[in-house]
Amino acid sequence: MNTPVVIIGAGSAGLAVAAALQERNVDCIVLEQGDRVAASWRQRHEDLRLNTIRWLSDLPGLRIPRAAGRWVSRDDYIAYLERYADRNALDVRCTVRVEHVMPTADGWQVVTTAGTYDAANVIVATGGDRIPRLPGLPGLAAFRKPVMHVSRLRRAADLAGRRVLLIGSGNSAVEIAGHLVDHQVAQLWMSVRRTPNILPRQLWGVPLHPVTVALRHLPERLRDGLARSISRRAFGDLRPYGLPAPKDGPFRRMRTSGVTAAVDQGFVGHLTAGRLRIVADVDHLTANEAVLRDGVRVEPDVLLVATGYRSGLEELLGHLDILDQNGRPRTGKSQPAMEGLWFTGFWPAIEGTLRQHGPEARRIAAAIARNPR
Ligand SMILES: Cc1cc2nc3c(=O)[nH]c(=O)nc-3n(C[C@H](O)[C@H](O)[C@H](O)COP(=O)(O)OP(=O)(O)OC[C@H]3O[C@@H](n4cnc5c(N)ncnc54)[C@H](O)[C@@H]3O)c2cc1C
Repeated sequence: MNTPVVIIGAGSAGLAVAAALQERNVDCIVLEQGDRVAASWRQRHEDLRLNTIRWLSDLPGLRIPRAAGRWVSRDDYIAYLERYADRNALDVRCTVRVEHVMPTADGWQVVTTAGTYDAANVIVATGGDRIPRLPGLPGLAAFRKPVMHVSRLRRAADLAGRRVLLIGSGNSAVEIAGHLVDHQVAQLWMSVRRTPNILPRQLWGVPLHPVTVALRHLPERLRDGLARSISRRAFGDLRPYGLPAPKDGPFRRMRTSGVTAAVDQGFVGHLTAGRLRIVADVDHLTANEAVLRDGVRVEPDVLLVATGYRSGLEELLGHLDILDQNGRPRTGKSQPAMEGLWFTGFWPAIEGTLRQHGPEARRIAAAIARNPR
């Protein structure tokens, strides 16, 4: 099967680049392993809302309807991506999993579960959050209680009445902690190794996401200082509740370790009201307990881990020596990693990953249209 451009993945990044190519009259197909577009969002839990504001989270050419509100729900965002694919009449081929990608004399061979495609250009849009990362906890194999990555939790309500030990302090951990208390877990311990940078979603009714976008060209130190003072103003001193001030600011942390700031959706209120407890790092697990670094022992019914994700690109492209030590493309944004091989959606940002899809898509589409090969 021959086609000018194969896009791998029908999430927001893949759909945006398909629409941008179509606008420039470049034929493309999108291969998607799921049975519908937006497969990643369908697997995320039902309480999830975007923490980036609606009007800075949409893709070029189609607004998310006002009726979806300021903070769009998971289901409304899925419906939006479905509409985006339909409105642009994108050629999305579902239940086709790409297994690997090989260079050929004049382009690329894309080997899938439904046959092989030859393409001049391949755009990888498989998402940076594809594979849940599990911590290597001593004693994990002997632990008899359920252990679940947060990405596998469909409804926070499923843990109502349970004692939960949540490991992690990134955005996912902070977000799910709020929902777990809302849904009345019996007890929530949150094991924190590194204090998260927590930002309010809005302050005095003013949403902060557009502010981070407006200030994105300021020096990092200034933006970190500003973020710190906003957090202090919004939440006060959280040391009495087990959270010392973070050692670095959110923008520096994002740049140096790829960890995005956590957005408060009720977490801090629950923490200061004593509805969840911050505890030390887990030292090891026994059959029924977690023994913490400070010697305290807790006995949860469920161990929930929110320790991040990896891209899983090694399986697709590991043989090409184009990935860094974290498994992400070494190439710069919107630059080909090799001739005719592009990536989109792999550069997360506090100003919003979704809002970056449009500019990345336009740049890649323009480069391919200029030099179709
Ligand atoms: C819980 C959570 C909440 C987030 N909330 C926000 C937010 O509010 N605002 C924001 O800006 N960003 C947010 N992000 C970050 C980011 O914007 C999202 O992860 C977004 O879904 C990324 O889009 P994507 O298209 O790059 O990847 P995905 O949405 O993951 O899409 C990738 C697609 O590729 C398919 N695929 C993967 N491998 C293959 C293969 N081998 N063959 C065929 N198909 C394949 C997958 O099935 C999937 O459909 C969030 C991330 C997470 C994890």
